[in-house]
Amino acid sequence: MNEKNKPTVLLEFYLKKLRLPTILREYASLAVVCREDRSDFPTYLLRLVERELLDREKRASEKRIKEAGFPVIKTIDTFDFKFQPSINEQLVRELMRGEYIDKKENVLFIGKSGAGKTHLACALAFAACAVGKHVRFYSVNGLVTELMESRDEKRLQRFQKQLQRLDLLVLDELGYVPFSKTGAELLFEVVSRAYEQQSLMITSNLPFEDWNEVFGSERLTGALLDRITHRCHIIEARDDSYRLEQAKKRVRQKRLQTNPENTATD
Ligand code: ADP
Ligand code: MG
Repeated sequence: MNEKNKPTVLLEFYLKKLRLPTILREYASLAVVCREDRSDFPTYLLRLVERELLDREKRASEKRIKEAGFPVIKTIDTFDFKFQPSINEQLVRELMRGEYIDKKENVLFIGKSGAGKTHLACALAFAACAVGKHVRFYSVNGLVTELMESRDEKRLQRFQKQLQRLDLLVLDELGYVPFSKTGAELLFEVVSRAYEQQSLMITSNLPFEDWNEVFGSERLTGALLDRITHRCHIIEARDDSYRLEQAKKRVRQKRLQTNPENTATD
Protein backbone atom coordinates (compact mmCIF):
# COMPACT_ATOMS: atom_id res chain seq x y z
CA MET A 1 0.00 0.00 0.00
CA ASN A 2 1.24 3.48 -0.89
CA GLU A 3 2.34 5.24 2.38
CA LYS A 4 0.80 8.53 1.21
CA ASN A 5 -2.64 6.96 0.96
CA LYS A 6 -2.57 5.19 4.25
CA PRO A 7 -4.46 7.82 6.35
CA THR A 8 -7.11 8.14 3.64
CA VAL A 9 -7.58 4.41 3.40
CA LEU A 10 -7.81 4.06 7.17
CA LEU A 11 -10.13 7.05 7.49
CA GLU A 12 -12.50 5.59 4.90
CA PHE A 13 -12.37 2.23 6.62
CA TYR A 14 -13.29 3.79 9.99
CA LEU A 15 -16.03 5.96 8.48
CA LYS A 16 -17.60 2.84 7.01
CA LYS A 17 -17.26 1.02 10.30
CA LEU A 18 -18.84 3.92 12.17
CA ARG A 19 -21.62 4.04 9.55
CA LEU A 20 -21.05 7.63 8.47
CA PRO A 21 -21.76 7.35 4.71
CA THR A 22 -22.34 11.06 4.12
CA ILE A 23 -19.05 12.08 5.72
CA LEU A 24 -17.35 9.35 3.71
CA ARG A 25 -18.87 10.65 0.50
CA GLU A 26 -18.28 14.35 1.13
CA TYR A 27 -15.21 14.83 3.31
CA ALA A 28 -12.84 15.31 0.36
CA SER A 29 -14.99 17.71 -1.68
CA LEU A 30 -15.95 19.73 1.41
CA ALA A 31 -12.26 20.00 2.35
CA VAL A 32 -11.66 21.76 -0.98
CA VAL A 33 -14.56 24.16 -0.37
CA CYS A 34 -13.45 24.89 3.20
CA ARG A 35 -9.88 25.51 2.08
CA GLU A 36 -11.16 28.06 -0.44
CA ASP A 37 -13.41 29.65 2.21
CA ARG A 38 -10.52 29.65 4.69
CA SER A 39 -12.80 27.91 7.18
CA ASP A 40 -11.08 26.58 10.30
CA PHE A 41 -11.05 22.90 11.28
CA PRO A 42 -14.02 23.02 13.69
CA THR A 43 -16.13 24.68 10.97
CA TYR A 44 -15.16 22.00 8.47
CA LEU A 45 -15.99 19.28 10.94
CA LEU A 46 -19.24 20.94 11.92
CA ARG A 47 -20.42 21.18 8.31
CA LEU A 48 -19.58 17.53 7.71
CA VAL A 49 -21.36 16.34 10.84
CA GLU A 50 -24.41 18.48 10.04
CA ARG A 51 -24.69 16.90 6.60
CA GLU A 52 -24.46 13.42 8.10
CA LEU A 53 -27.17 14.26 10.62
CA LEU A 54 -29.53 15.70 8.00
CA ASP A 55 -29.03 12.71 5.72
CA ARG A 56 -29.55 10.32 8.60
CA GLU A 57 -32.86 11.99 9.51
CA LYS A 58 -33.94 11.88 5.87
CA ARG A 59 -33.08 8.18 5.57
CA ALA A 60 -34.93 7.38 8.79
CA SER A 61 -38.00 9.30 7.64
CA GLU A 62 -37.98 7.49 4.27
CA LYS A 63 -37.74 4.17 6.09
CA ARG A 64 -40.69 5.05 8.33
CA ILE A 65 -42.76 6.06 5.28
CA LYS A 66 -41.93 2.78 3.54
CA GLU A 67 -42.79 0.74 6.62
CA ALA A 68 -46.09 2.60 7.06
CA GLY A 69 -47.43 0.93 3.90
CA PHE A 70 -49.44 3.82 2.50
CA PRO A 71 -51.76 2.83 -0.36
CA VAL A 72 -51.04 6.20 -1.98
CA ILE A 73 -49.07 9.22 -0.95
CA LYS A 74 -51.40 12.14 -0.37
CA THR A 75 -50.58 15.48 1.15
CA ILE A 76 -52.60 18.28 2.58
CA ASP A 77 -51.44 20.65 -0.19
CA THR A 78 -53.56 18.81 -2.73
CA PHE A 79 -56.67 18.76 -0.54
CA ASP A 80 -59.30 21.33 -1.50
CA PHE A 81 -60.87 22.43 1.77
CA LYS A 82 -63.23 24.76 -0.08
CA PHE A 83 -64.86 21.77 -1.71
CA GLN A 84 -65.46 20.18 1.71
CA PRO A 85 -66.35 23.13 3.99
CA SER A 86 -67.82 20.87 6.70
CA ILE A 87 -64.29 19.69 7.51
CA ASN A 88 -62.63 21.66 10.27
CA GLU A 89 -59.56 22.83 8.37
CA GLN A 90 -57.98 24.47 11.39
CA LEU A 91 -58.18 21.22 13.36
CA VAL A 92 -56.70 19.23 10.47
CA ARG A 93 -53.80 21.68 10.20
CA GLU A 94 -53.22 21.50 13.93
CA LEU A 95 -53.20 17.69 13.79
CA MET A 96 -50.49 17.87 11.11
CA ARG A 97 -48.08 18.78 13.91
CA GLY A 98 -48.58 15.34 15.46
CA GLU A 99 -48.97 16.42 19.09
CA TYR A 100 -52.09 14.27 19.42
CA ILE A 101 -49.81 11.25 19.07
CA ASP A 102 -47.74 12.28 22.09
CA LYS A 103 -51.00 12.61 24.02
CA LYS A 104 -52.20 9.19 22.74
CA GLU A 105 -55.34 10.76 21.30
CA ASN A 106 -57.33 9.25 18.45
CA VAL A 107 -58.61 10.75 15.20
CA LEU A 108 -61.83 9.68 13.59
CA PHE A 109 -62.97 10.64 10.08
CA ILE A 110 -66.65 10.12 9.39
CA GLY A 111 -68.30 10.83 6.03
CA LYS A 112 -69.64 9.52 2.78
CA SER A 113 -67.61 7.58 0.27
CA GLY A 114 -65.39 9.89 -1.78
CA ALA A 115 -65.51 12.70 0.80
CA GLY A 116 -61.72 12.70 1.25
CA LYS A 117 -61.36 10.66 4.45
CA THR A 118 -58.61 8.37 3.16
CA HIS A 119 -56.84 11.33 1.56
CA LEU A 120 -56.71 13.21 4.86
CA ALA A 121 -55.81 10.11 6.88
CA CYS A 122 -52.88 9.47 4.51
CA ALA A 123 -51.80 13.11 4.71
CA LEU A 124 -51.88 13.15 8.51
CA ALA A 125 -50.15 9.79 8.83
CA PHE A 126 -47.50 10.89 6.33
CA ALA A 127 -46.90 14.04 8.36
CA ALA A 128 -46.56 11.87 11.48
CA CYS A 129 -43.79 9.86 9.78
CA ALA A 130 -41.99 13.09 9.01
CA VAL A 131 -41.98 14.12 12.67
CA GLY A 132 -40.45 10.82 13.73
CA LYS A 133 -43.48 8.67 14.54
CA HIS A 134 -43.84 5.00 13.67
CA VAL A 135 -46.98 4.51 11.68
CA ARG A 136 -48.79 1.63 9.99
CA PHE A 137 -51.64 2.11 7.56
CA TYR A 138 -54.18 -0.73 7.18
CA SER A 139 -57.47 -1.08 5.48
CA VAL A 140 -59.50 -2.29 8.41
CA ASN A 141 -60.46 -5.48 6.61
CA GLY A 142 -56.86 -6.08 5.65
CA LEU A 143 -55.88 -5.87 9.29
CA VAL A 144 -58.65 -8.22 10.39
CA THR A 145 -57.56 -10.75 7.75
CA GLU A 146 -53.96 -10.50 8.96
CA LEU A 147 -55.05 -10.92 12.58
CA MET A 148 -57.03 -14.06 11.70
CA GLU A 149 -54.18 -15.49 9.67
CA SER A 150 -51.65 -14.85 12.40
CA ARG A 151 -54.00 -16.50 14.90
CA ASP A 152 -54.37 -19.58 12.70
CA GLU A 153 -50.61 -19.73 12.31
CA LYS A 154 -50.07 -19.32 16.07
CA ARG A 155 -48.19 -16.05 15.78
CA LEU A 156 -50.93 -13.74 16.97
CA GLN A 157 -49.03 -12.57 20.04
CA ARG A 158 -46.01 -11.63 17.99
CA PHE A 159 -48.19 -9.69 15.56
CA GLN A 160 -50.01 -7.92 18.40
CA LYS A 161 -46.67 -6.90 19.89
CA GLN A 162 -45.56 -5.52 16.51
CA LEU A 163 -48.73 -3.44 16.37
CA GLN A 164 -48.22 -2.20 19.90
CA ARG A 165 -44.79 -0.83 19.05
CA LEU A 166 -46.39 1.68 16.64
CA ASP A 167 -47.13 5.26 17.61
CA LEU A 168 -50.05 5.55 15.21
CA LEU A 169 -52.20 2.83 13.73
CA VAL A 170 -54.48 3.82 10.83
CA LEU A 171 -57.59 1.74 10.22
CA ASP A 172 -59.12 2.80 6.92
CA GLU A 173 -62.64 2.17 5.64
CA LEU A 174 -64.49 0.73 8.56
CA GLY A 175 -68.05 -0.08 7.62
CA TYR A 176 -67.98 -1.51 4.12
CA VAL A 177 -67.80 -5.17 5.12
CA PRO A 178 -69.13 -6.69 8.36
CA PHE A 179 -66.69 -8.74 10.44
CA SER A 180 -67.05 -12.32 11.52
CA LYS A 181 -67.41 -12.81 15.29
CA THR A 182 -63.73 -13.76 15.61
CA GLY A 183 -62.70 -10.86 13.39
CA ALA A 184 -64.67 -8.39 15.51
CA GLU A 185 -63.14 -9.77 18.71
CA LEU A 186 -59.60 -9.61 17.36
CA LEU A 187 -60.10 -6.03 16.25
CA PHE A 188 -61.59 -5.17 19.62
CA GLU A 189 -58.44 -6.48 21.25
CA VAL A 190 -56.25 -4.23 19.08
CA VAL A 191 -58.38 -1.23 20.09
CA SER A 192 -58.27 -2.22 23.78
CA ARG A 193 -54.51 -2.59 23.78
CA ALA A 194 -54.14 0.78 22.04
CA TYR A 195 -56.28 2.56 24.61
CA GLU A 196 -54.17 5.31 26.21
CA GLN A 197 -51.01 3.62 24.85
CA GLN A 198 -50.99 4.61 21.19
CA SER A 199 -53.06 6.65 18.74
CA LEU A 200 -55.63 5.21 16.39
CA MET A 201 -56.86 6.93 13.25
CA ILE A 202 -60.06 5.46 11.85
CA THR A 203 -62.05 6.38 8.77
CA SER A 204 -65.64 5.27 8.36
CA ASN A 205 -68.63 5.90 6.15
CA LEU A 206 -70.92 4.87 9.00
CA PRO A 207 -72.27 7.11 11.75
CA PHE A 208 -71.64 5.69 15.25
CA GLU A 209 -75.18 4.41 15.68
CA ASP A 210 -74.62 2.03 12.77
CA TRP A 211 -71.31 0.54 13.92
CA ASN A 212 -73.29 -2.34 15.39
CA GLU A 213 -73.89 -3.53 11.86
CA VAL A 214 -70.21 -4.26 11.24
CA PHE A 215 -69.31 -5.55 14.70
CA GLY A 216 -72.44 -7.64 15.08
CA SER A 217 -72.74 -7.14 18.83
CA GLU A 218 -74.16 -4.16 20.69
CA ARG A 219 -72.12 -4.86 23.81
CA LEU A 220 -68.82 -5.09 21.94
CA THR A 221 -69.60 -1.99 19.83
CA GLY A 222 -70.44 0.00 22.96
CA ALA A 223 -67.19 -0.97 24.68
CA LEU A 224 -65.21 -0.27 21.52
CA LEU A 225 -66.75 3.16 20.93
CA ASP A 226 -66.21 4.01 24.57
CA ARG A 227 -62.48 3.40 24.24
CA ILE A 228 -62.05 5.01 20.82
CA THR A 229 -63.99 8.18 21.54
CA HIS A 230 -62.67 8.81 25.05
CA ARG A 231 -59.83 11.03 23.83
CA CYS A 232 -60.63 11.65 20.23
CA HIS A 233 -60.76 14.30 17.53
CA ILE A 234 -63.78 13.71 15.34
CA ILE A 235 -63.71 15.14 11.83
CA GLU A 236 -66.92 14.96 9.90
CA ALA A 237 -67.17 15.39 6.14
CA ARG A 238 -70.81 16.08 5.52
CA ASP A 239 -70.47 17.24 1.91
CA ASP A 240 -70.63 15.25 -1.29
CA SER A 241 -68.15 12.97 -2.95
CA TYR A 242 -65.23 14.77 -4.55
CA ARG A 243 -64.80 11.84 -6.91
CA LEU A 244 -68.40 12.07 -8.05
CA GLU A 245 -68.20 15.84 -8.57
CA GLN A 246 -65.01 15.47 -10.63
CA ALA A 247 -66.70 12.81 -12.77
CA LYS A 248 -69.74 15.04 -13.29
CA LYS A 249 -67.46 17.92 -14.25
CA ARG A 250 -65.69 15.73 -16.82
CA VAL A 251 -69.02 14.69 -18.33
CA ARG A 252 -70.11 18.35 -18.53
CA GLN A 253 -66.83 19.31 -20.24
CA LYS A 254 -67.11 16.46 -22.71
CA ARG A 255 -70.65 17.46 -23.53
CA LEU A 256 -69.51 21.03 -24.11
CA GLN A 257 -66.69 19.89 -26.38
CA THR A 258 -68.97 17.79 -28.54
CA ASN A 259 -71.78 20.35 -28.55
CA PRO A 260 -70.50 23.87 -27.65
CA GLU A 261 -73.99 25.37 -27.73
CA ASN A 262 -75.06 23.10 -24.94
CA THR A 263 -74.06 25.47 -22.12
CA ALA A 264 -77.27 25.63 -20.15
CA THR A 265 -77.31 22.04 -19.02
CA ASP A 266 -77.14 21.20 -15.26
P1 ADP B 1 -63.03 8.51 1.01
O1 ADP B 1 -61.92 7.82 1.68
O2 ADP B 1 -63.74 9.49 1.89
O3 ADP B 1 -63.99 7.56 0.36
P2 ADP B 1 -60.94 9.50 -0.70
O4 ADP B 1 -60.08 10.20 0.30
O5 ADP B 1 -60.44 8.18 -1.17
O6 ADP B 1 -62.43 9.39 -0.16
O7 ADP B 1 -61.16 10.48 -1.93
C1 ADP B 1 -61.47 10.00 -3.24
C2 ADP B 1 -60.57 10.72 -4.26
O8 ADP B 1 -60.91 12.09 -4.32
C3 ADP B 1 -59.10 10.67 -3.89
O9 ADP B 1 -58.36 10.59 -5.08
C4 ADP B 1 -58.86 11.98 -3.18
O10 ADP B 1 -57.51 12.40 -3.33
C5 ADP B 1 -59.82 12.90 -3.89
N1 ADP B 1 -60.39 13.94 -3.01
C6 ADP B 1 -61.40 13.79 -2.15
N2 ADP B 1 -61.72 14.95 -1.56
C7 ADP B 1 -60.86 15.87 -2.04
C8 ADP B 1 -60.66 17.27 -1.82
N3 ADP B 1 -61.48 17.97 -1.00
N4 ADP B 1 -59.67 17.89 -2.48
C9 ADP B 1 -58.89 17.19 -3.36
N5 ADP B 1 -59.02 15.87 -3.62
C10 ADP B 1 -60.00 15.21 -2.98
MG1 MG C 1 -61.56 5.85 1.81
